[in-house]
Amino acid sequence: NKFVYIFGNNETEGKNSMKDLLGGKGANLAEMSNLGIPVPVGFTITTGVCTLYLKNGQYPPGLEEHIDNAIKQLESTTKKNFGDLKNPLLLSVRSGARVSMPGMMDTVLNLGLNDDSVVGLATKTGNERFAYDSYRRFLTMFANVVLDIDHEKFESALSSKKKDKCVKQDNDLEVEDLKELVEKFKTIIKDETGKDFPQDAREQLQMAIDAVFGSWNNQRAITYRKLNGIPGEWGTAVNVQSMVYGNMGENSGTGVAFTRDPATGEKRFFGEYLINAQGEDVVAGIRTPQPIKALKNTMPVVYDQLVDIYMKLEDHFKDMQDIEFTIEKGKLFMLQTRTGKRTAAAAIKIATEMVEEGLIDKDTALLRVEPEQIDRLLHPNIDPTSTYEVMATGLPASPGAAVGEVVFTAEHAEEMAKNGEKTILVRAETSPEDIGGMNAAEGILTVRGGMTSHAAVVARGMGKPCVAGCGEITIDMKEKIFNVGDYTVKEGNMISIDGSTGNVILGEVDLILPGVTDELETILKWADEVRTLKVRTNADTPHDAEVARDFGAEGIGLCRTEHMFFGEDRIPAVREMIMAEDIESRKMALKKLLPMQREDFIGIFKAMEGFPVTIRLLDPPLHEFLPVHEEVMDKLRELESSDTSQKEMDRVKKIGERIEYLKEINPMLGHRGCRLGITYPEIYEMQAQAIIEAACELSKEGMKIVPEIMIPLVSHVKELEFVKKHVTTVVESVMEEMGIKLDYLVGTMIELPRAALTADQIAKEAEFFSFGTNDLTQTTFGFSRDDAGKFLPSYLESGILEDDPFAVLDQDGVGQLVKIGIEKGRATRPDIKIGICGEHGGEPKSIKFGHNVGLNYVSCSPFRVPIARLAAAHAVL
Ligand code: ADP
Ligand code: MG
Ligand code: MG
Repeated sequence: NKFVYIFGNNETEGKNSMKDLLGGKGANLAEMSNLGIPVPVGFTITTGVCTLYLKNGQYPPGLEEHIDNAIKQLESTTKKNFGDLKNPLLLSVRSGARVSMPGMMDTVLNLGLNDDSVVGLATKTGNERFAYDSYRRFLTMFANVVLDIDHEKFESALSSKKKDKCVKQDNDLEVEDLKELVEKFKTIIKDETGKDFPQDAREQLQMAIDAVFGSWNNQRAITYRKLNGIPGEWGTAVNVQSMVYGNMGENSGTGVAFTRDPATGEKRFFGEYLINAQGEDVVAGIRTPQPIKALKNTMPVVYDQLVDIYMKLEDHFKDMQDIEFTIEKGKLFMLQTRTGKRTAAAAIKIATEMVEEGLIDKDTALLRVEPEQIDRLLHPNIDPTSTYEVMATGLPASPGAAVGEVVFTAEHAEEMAKNGEKTILVRAETSPEDIGGMNAAEGILTVRGGMTSHAAVVARGMGKPCVAGCGEITIDMKEKIFNVGDYTVKEGNMISIDGSTGNVILGEVDLILPGVTDELETILKWADEVRTLKVRTNADTPHDAEVARDFGAEGIGLCRTEHMFFGEDRIPAVREMIMAEDIESRKMALKKLLPMQREDFIGIFKAMEGFPVTIRLLDPPLHEFLPVHEEVMDKLRELESSDTSQKEMDRVKKIGERIEYLKEINPMLGHRGCRLGITYPEIYEMQAQAIIEAACELSKEGMKIVPEIMIPLVSHVKELEFVKKHVTTVVESVMEEMGIKLDYLVGTMIELPRAALTADQIAKEAEFFSFGTNDLTQTTFGFSRDDAGKFLPSYLESGILEDDPFAVLDQDGVGQLVKIGIEKGRATRPDIKIGICGEHGGEPKSIKFGHNVGLNYVSCSPFRVPIARLAAAHAVL
């Protein structure tokens, strides 16, 4: 039962592999000190203590003693004493979960100060300004984190003090000002809590520890965990560490750096620092910091030491690191290292380059890129050929372009997003309270803060475009406007931001989609070497097929033919077919459609030459091709009041009657899919003829065409048997006529529970299966996909469902049907080819499931093909 682990002296007890117990920050502080890197001495209280505390409402017995003993060790290492009035040891209290949750949990610095020890600190250091600067910081943080008093109260007291003194920066305040602020802050605390600020150091520490553990369950932390799929049981560790001071004057400072550029991935030391500053000053954007290069001139020795350390860290952890450091009177201390968040482009560049450098192997590189990140890479940038009006330029903090209406608060962004409206969130700076709104907005624009500010880090993590530190802008929250140069932009006005250049643009810009870069190509090639699951695409047009092929699709898994029926030139013939009163006139109409369908298939087969193409025969109910009933009735009334011929009136009237006849109460479960093929076999016969004529024609020209004809919405093997007979009769006779023998398959979609449950019978007829998981989800849950928007959000909010089952395959229910279908299908026909089409075919978790249950391929929309390729590789690794 060890609750406390020491780090930072030569008795360091933890190490990097103990993240579950010590949290990421604690484990890495220990590891740095094991590597001989200067880390202020401290100790970590384990995540286990957090879990116990939150569960039982009290600490495990003996914890207090462990903490007291650890403090004694810090005292002997630092030669300062905790709670001492002359030579006080001050502490930072820092949270740290297993994975980094930037800004989610709060830190208290300079803990241990009180009205007397601040005097001692001033005397001991001979730096009164520093002592009171530390005290006012401590009061602010303690009040905010531990006593839960609004930060704004202290912020506005500080601002009005600066205003009174006509100074801009915190550092320009003098000792007397700071002393007055300290008094003012204590009054605020007394007013807000009804109690005096606690003067006892040990009591302060206990309160801070309680608060950090408690903050695991604050709203911000919960939101972040939800967005990132982090389990609530993990808990956080608490790190208690002796303070080092970056606010002791011109030879002190604090900074944040990345071992490679987190926006582009370029191999260069990247970071920022502030002289005479402490803690969060850089990240919070209190002042605009200096680029790390400038440190080379001002403190060359420290700079060289920092460079050595960063290289050592990257070499040791074999990944890009995000580091925090503080310089106390020319002496460097490392305060944190962790795996750096990065954009999708950077993730790919870093992963491929680290393989080249021999730092990691290809499999590791593949796992360093999340499939969903690729999606962001394929997201829009500004069309370089377009012209636009740049109002201002800030820092290019997170690449990509975004367009939206200006909003000034996170809540507003969230509200607008609920109505499907796009926004750009414009803030002076962002803080963890804004996370929800940042997620809801298209892009983020801040006035203050650098490349490592909260806004920049979070936006890069989310893959949202962000322009940070655009100091030319002034926001007027009262008027809900911002001014920049001669422009005044109101809430609701359209602006665009370019996170790759930092440009802030008036109005809406044209966006274009970027292509696949060489580095992405490399990653995808490596993924192809690893994966066993094939990746096909859902494509209805030759254009989509070409796009998908360029993205690496290995065939079409779903070509929907109804799309083709909707074409403007087709609709009259389609309607004629539907209106036909007897089979002869229906066949006449179908004859007109035949050559058009043949042309469609020629185009698609050509685009996918050499790869299989699965064509689904007509699926939707016929009334979808007719006009809306009310419209026809309106037309009829219009005709009645003009002098139209009776014949025309009769024609329109008949359409109206036909619509009434075809109307269904529940069309999704109505006359569609193979049910159409059974009542009107000639429709499917025409389609089969068009498919096979196209295939034969092209194979005559020497092309390799692999048609797969797919019958939708089968629930009973006899339905398939019936339809298949019609289809194969046509196919065989066309081939005979054209004198060509082609390999082709006739298979079915498995998209109804009965089909999955009787897959062994269905496999007697079906030569392939494709799980239509959209319909299968609808029919398994009994949720209408088109109506689910009304209730699914409540299901997700209340936690009844973890994911939208139409986006992420429900493995426990729908997935079981898939499994049963595969097992039964293969029992009858061991080599049957089985795939999945529908939204899930491009969703990484569902792809992993598909791999594990033994699918042969997934099929997804063209832009998701690269994502699926990588996800299929991840499924193997
Ligand atoms: P976060 O998890 O939000 O990054 P940290 O625990 O890293 O929070 O603390 C925030 C800031 O406080 C850090 O940037 C670091 O510079 C500063 N800090 C933390 N501990 C100390 C310390 N012992 N001495 C000086 N500064 C510290
Ligand atoms: Mg930190
Ligand atoms: Mg379907």
